[in-house]
Order: sequence, then C-alpha cells, then structure tokens
Amino acid sequence: MNRAIPFFNYPQIYLSHKKEYNDLITDVLSRGAFINQKDITEFEYDIAHYLGVKHAIGVANCTDGLTIALKAAGIQNGDEVIFPSHTFVATAEAIVNNNGIPVPADIASDHTIDPNDIMKRITKKTKFIMPVQLNGRTSNMDPIMKIANEYNLTIIEDSAQSLGAKYKGKFAGTFGRASSFSFYPAKILGAFGDAGIIITNDDDIAQKSRFLKDHGRNEKNEVVLWGMNSRLDNLQAAILKFQFSFFNITINRRRAIAELYNNNLKNIPQLTLPPGPDSSTDYFDVFQNYEIEAENRDGLKSHLADCGIGTLIQWSGKAVHQFEQLGLKVSLPFTEKMFTRCLMLPMHVYLSDDDIYYITEKIIKFYE
Ligand SMILES: *Cc1c(COP(=O)(O)O)cnc(C)c1O
Repeated sequence: MNRAIPFFNYPQIYLSHKKEYNDLITDVLSRGAFINQKDITEFEYDIAHYLGVKHAIGVANCTDGLTIALKAAGIQNGDEVIFPSHTFVATAEAIVNNNGIPVPADIASDHTIDPNDIMKRITKKTKFIMPVQLNGRTSNMDPIMKIANEYNLTIIEDSAQSLGAKYKGKFAGTFGRASSFSFYPAKILGAFGDAGIIITNDDDIAQKSRFLKDHGRNEKNEVVLWGMNSRLDNLQAAILKFQFSFFNITINRRRAIAELYNNNLKNIPQLTLPPGPDSSTDYFDVFQNYEIEAENRDGLKSHLADCGIGTLIQWSGKAVHQFEQLGLKVSLPFTEKMFTRCLMLPMHVYLSDDDIYYITEKIIKFYE
C-alpha cells in the first residue's frame, strides 16, 4: 500500500505539541508581550549558553542576521566576499545588501565549500569568507581558518542550517567573528514564521548588531547609526524557547534517521550518500537535510513521487551562480555536476522508522 510521506510536514510542528503551544501563546498574548520582551532575552540567553558564546542577538530572519553581521564586522563598498555557490541566495544577498561583491566558490565531496577553491579566488580585494554550514554539517574549518589567518580575511559563517553541529568539538557558528542561524519553519529549530539569531564573542560586533537590528538605537533609545527594523518577534522567541527545551531529542532523532538511511542504502552503487553520523570523530552532523547524489536523479524523483514520497532538489535546482540574471559569471565544475545528481530525501522528526524503511525499499526497487 502507498503511504503519503510529504517532504516536510509543516502542520506537525504545531500539532505535535498543540497544548503546550496553545498555553504559551495565550500566556504571551495575555501579557501583551509583543516587542522586545523577556521571551527574547531568555531565548537569547539559552542559545548563547548552549553554544558557549558571549552574545546572541535575536533578529527577524537569518538573511538580515547575515547582512547585519557583515555590516557590524565592517564590510566596505567593493569588498570581495568568497562563499560557496551551493547555498541559498540569501548568503550572497547579505553581501550585495552591503555593496560587497559576492565571489562564488566550488564545493568539496561533502557539499560544503572547498578550501582549495577558496585559495584560487583570493584577490587584493578579498576581505571576507562566508563558509556555509550546509545540511547540518560544518565546513572543513581547519584549512579555512588557516587561509583566513594567512590572508587576514574575516570569517562570517552562514550557519542557518547547522544549529548544534560541531567540527572537532567546536560548534558551527563559533569559528568566525560572527554568524547567523535561521529559524525558518523547516529548519531544525522552526518558528511559526520567520526568525533568526546572530551569535558572536566580539563585544563591538554584538553592540553594533543590537543597534542595527533596532533602527540604529542604543540602550537610551538614541539613534547612533543608520539601522533597520529586524527585531526578533517576541511571540516567535517564546515558541523557539519552548522548542529549544527538547533540542537534543530533535538532533538525536535526525541522526538516527540518517543512520537508518545510510544502512539501508549503502549497497546501492548508483547512489552517493552523505557521510553517516558516526563516519568521522571530527564531525558531529545534525542533518538539517539528507542530501544524496543519484544516477538518473530525475527518474528516481518521479518514481518516489509515484510512491507518495516527497523529495526536493535544493534551491530549486540551481547553485547561486547558475541564476544567470544575477550576473555571477563563473564556472564551478563540482557544483554544476552535483546539481545534476542531488536530491534531498524526507528528513524531519515526524518520520517513523517504518517511513524510512518504506522510502529506502522504494529506492532499492527503483535501481533493481
Ligand atoms: C534558510 C537559509 C538562509 C536564510 O534564512 P532565513 O531565516 O529564511 O532568512 C540562509 N542561508 C542558508 C544556507 C539557509 O538554508
């Protein structure tokens, strides 16, 4: 019998804890706590404490968070910023929003930015590297940090997809001078709308970011900078604080699902699987996505759709430099090849083990 397994199950975010959400929403609304209230401060504290950083600054979304972090870190007109082209356009937008020049780089076999390709793209104008901690995996940070030190480049991480991921025991988002996480509903921690957070250990970046996200106003409500309105919504902060209270369960379930996928699919020669959860002690991946590469990818995708299984090709099937009208004229062979083969299988905590067996059985059948 066919199951219906959507790629992501949006209603379940709420329905899985309906009573708790109803209670907390009633509480926030009854307090009239809409803007800049204690729920934000408490959630910021929880995130900073968990990641072991000095500052966490709630913002309206991660795109704004990256824009603000770059600005607070001192980006100037014409500064070149190297980023992996296998990312959401938001990474590049944050650069362009600051009149910087986005310089797309190629990816390595784990789909994160290739440090060797970063080297090839450095010019006199290069000022920043923005590694993207993609699919719940941290980039290969040792060589990236080394390059940054050698060429005096500032790292701002796009860690939108990787809250809780670690590389050599260190959390994604804590390598650079600042980074931003996304709480878009389909992210590991998913708000009931848009939300994001900036983290940093740098007092100056923290203070500027706090001002920038609230119309450039300081603690005394005096306007000291040209800012914007990108405050984290207080109701969303309360929702996120509740979700964060069981974050470890969420991560463990995602890792267990990844393990199951890897075990069930490992003998199919037509597939390239992401590194499994225990494949290397250097990496602790949180599996925001489970992105495979597949021969006859489009055939597999439509076969799975016929079986009631939703899949997705990330970013509508194109790397940032492949959106021609953005004018980023460069050729990135690994990224381009990957986009003919990549496919994301369902990956969220509302999947049962039976769902995973059903999905993997259908994939095995397809290649038989
Ligand atoms: C989701 C995402 C963003 C954007 O986050 P928003 O909160 O939607 O602004 C940026 N970069 C990456 C890699 C993402 O996955």
